[in-house]
Amino acid sequence: MSRLVYINGALVPAEQATVSVFDHGLLYGDGVFEGLRSYGGKIFRLEEHVRRLYESARAICLTIPLTQAEMCAATQQAVAANKIQDGYIRSIVTRGVGTLGLDPNHCASPQVIIIADAITLYPAELYEQGLEIITSSVIRNHPAALSPRIKSLNYLNNILAKIEGLQAGCVEALMLNHKGEVAECTGDNIFVIRDGVLLTPPLDAGILGGITRDAVIEIAQAAGIEVREVALTKHDIYVADEGFLTGTAAEVIPLVKLDGRTIGTGKPGPLTLDLQQRFHALTRGGS
Ligand code: PMP
Repeated sequence: MSRLVYINGALVPAEQATVSVFDHGLLYGDGVFEGLRSYGGKIFRLEEHVRRLYESARAICLTIPLTQAEMCAATQQAVAANKIQDGYIRSIVTRGVGTLGLDPNHCASPQVIIIADAITLYPAELYEQGLEIITSSVIRNHPAALSPRIKSLNYLNNILAKIEGLQAGCVEALMLNHKGEVAECTGDNIFVIRDGVLLTPPLDAGILGGITRDAVIEIAQAAGIEVREVALTKHDIYVADEGFLTGTAAEVIPLVKLDGRTIGTGKPGPLTLDLQQRFHALTRGGS
């Protein structure tokens, strides 16, 4: 059965859910998006994702023609219409149909699209053995050029780093910022553990404020683990006791090697596994 895709207020079969070749989302990557996940039919941190979507839109001067509450309802509707239990949702707002020039003022109206689908996960063995990644030579976008806080349709920065990772046989790659500090991975935030303290780059390292990152920080603090958002270098990752990445699709995935340097014992660490379990309990238990 064909998926039903939400597009501008209607749920239509996927093959009829199309956008114009003059949409600036296609022509210029002019738009914003979100990636969400549902567990047992319930969307994890829906309001937080929708809020980030509206913040991304605000930052690019794009007015979404729905209230945040309406967007939440539409997202739930897309999940329910497709009878999705454990799935992945992609919400997209493009600038809409315009002319071939850059000027967004010539665009008629933003296009709102919500796709609720099955989820593609990293292979199970990567969770058991942990990820080995490299540092990409592609630095994360300079915040004064295109803030990484904006989840825009312009993901070439991350895609170029991902290509480098894939060419080195890695499914993820670490990106540094313009100062040479650790920023994040191409689609995941990064954490390390050193002497029992959880460390992660702050938002001003030029990263996306991950919803999973926020959840893991809360979980760790509730478990009495000290969390510090501090500038990190590659060296801090190399010498850490444990490491892991976080993201909506990946959840909490152990990191065991960076640039050929083994992190800790080279196996998923105990605190990582503990946080992974707590995150599992949170998502499967609802909230
Ligand atoms: N960083 C980047 C660049 C991302 O694309 C994502 C995935 N949206 C993340 C981090 C993780 O964010 P979240 O936990 O909200 O999925």
